[in-house]
Amino acid sequence: MTTQASTPLRQPVLFLGHGSPMNAIEDNRWSRAFISLAAELPRPRAILSISAHWFIAETALTDDVRPKTIHDFGGFPPELYAMQYPAPGDRSLAAHVAQELGPDAQLLTDWGLDHGTWSVLCHLFPRADVPVVQLAIDSLKQPAEHLALGRKLRSLRDEGVLILGSGNITHNLKHAFQSMHRGDTTTPEWASRFDSDIANAIKQRDDKFLLRALSTPDGRLAHPSADHYLPLLYSYGATDEKDIARYPIQGFDFGSLSMRAALWAPGGDD
Ligand code: ZN
Repeated sequence: MTTQASTPLRQPVLFLGHGSPMNAIEDNRWSRAFISLAAELPRPRAILSISAHWFIAETALTDDVRPKTIHDFGGFPPELYAMQYPAPGDRSLAAHVAQELGPDAQLLTDWGLDHGTWSVLCHLFPRADVPVVQLAIDSLKQPAEHLALGRKLRSLRDEGVLILGSGNITHNLKHAFQSMHRGDTTTPEWASRFDSDIANAIKQRDDKFLLRALSTPDGRLAHPSADHYLPLLYSYGATDEKDIARYPIQGFDFGSLSMRAALWAPGGDD
């Protein structure tokens, strides 16, 4: 447990590679990295999480007083299904964000907190005492539209809201499973190149590259579907030129799965 300072004027922004749901319950390199990262974060008033695992045909927010812990995966041990993350919701924040995002944003109670959110928050805020709202990713929207929605989240930072994008910078599970079967988890060139190209584009604030990355040859290999990449555009969109980006977690799991985390904070404050 870390001691966290009181709410500052402006919250940082996070993007986390969540990787395997097992990171929630295992003591491993990644769970330890999440715990170390927690010590660097000021305590937020609330968290707005954009998880790769709520990828539906509209923009929506969880509108629950007590969001359910969703076990949205199969074939894992019983302890993982027993895991609960009982953080409260924040219906007034959900309504406020919906208003900021525009008339298409829906308030829904048929979701909750999925493992993209709780498998990392259980390490960052283990007491589950910070209210959490999830924002769904509209699968019908283009990257530029996701970035534009992310920009609309910027002002929330001044209201003590931590914006957390949770996906992975590379996410080709077929490749990861095949590598594990073969017993060769060497990181392929396309994965290390895409991961470092994205890291550079974030630092250089190269919006154009971030928007076309999925359609590059490496991007097509890194993301057979866009769901795990798009949370990055929300996090990045919520930052501006005054923020300094750094990478508190780097490396690959299962050979090709980038676990890179990005943390943006105003220069001089971090
Ligand atoms: Zn995932």
